[in-house]
Amino acid sequence: MSFIGQSAKALFLKELVAGMALTLKYFTKPKVTLNYPYEKGPLSPRFRGEHALRRYPNGEERCIACKLCEAICPAQAITIEAEPRDDGSRRTTRYDIDMTKCIYCGFCQEACPVDAVVEGPNFEYATETREELLYDKAKLLANGDKWERAIAANLEADAPYR
Ligand code: SF4
Ligand code: SF4
Repeated sequence: MSFIGQSAKALFLKELVAGMALTLKYFTKPKVTLNYPYEKGPLSPRFRGEHALRRYPNGEERCIACKLCEAICPAQAITIEAEPRDDGSRRTTRYDIDMTKCIYCGFCQEACPVDAVVEGPNFEYATETREELLYDKAKLLANGDKWERAIAANLEADAPYR
């Protein structure tokens, strides 16, 4: 650009005016940004978030300690120990997930024959320490209790495609 052209552009503040015009153009249009955390975007029923262990409606744990999830986990993030109960049923005595190892592949959920371990819709579980991401059975069951309604709705919505 010539010297005169550059000078004219600077003199009439052409770029500033063009910028203000663009701002004005989008001022009245619907916003594309969300006011997080007060507004949140839609989540797919297949979203793979924080893990949970589910119960049946009568409160009994779904998990039958078959260890398929532990075996299939590519990150070896799941540790299970189990013992038979007095009534002969198998239940876990220990169910740990090291969330710092997990790669959120969803294989554990896919492998589970009774829909016990799931990756729920919660994605807001950042912590300040690594230790807080070492989940034990109590934490996972509490997650299941907290998110059961949303998890059940997601599983139902996705059921026709499975
Ligand atoms: S989502 Fe994948 S990596 Fe994470 S615990 Fe399940 S199987 Fe392991
Ligand atoms: S969560 Fe499911 S796959 Fe894992 S041990 Fe329990 S029943 Fe088996």
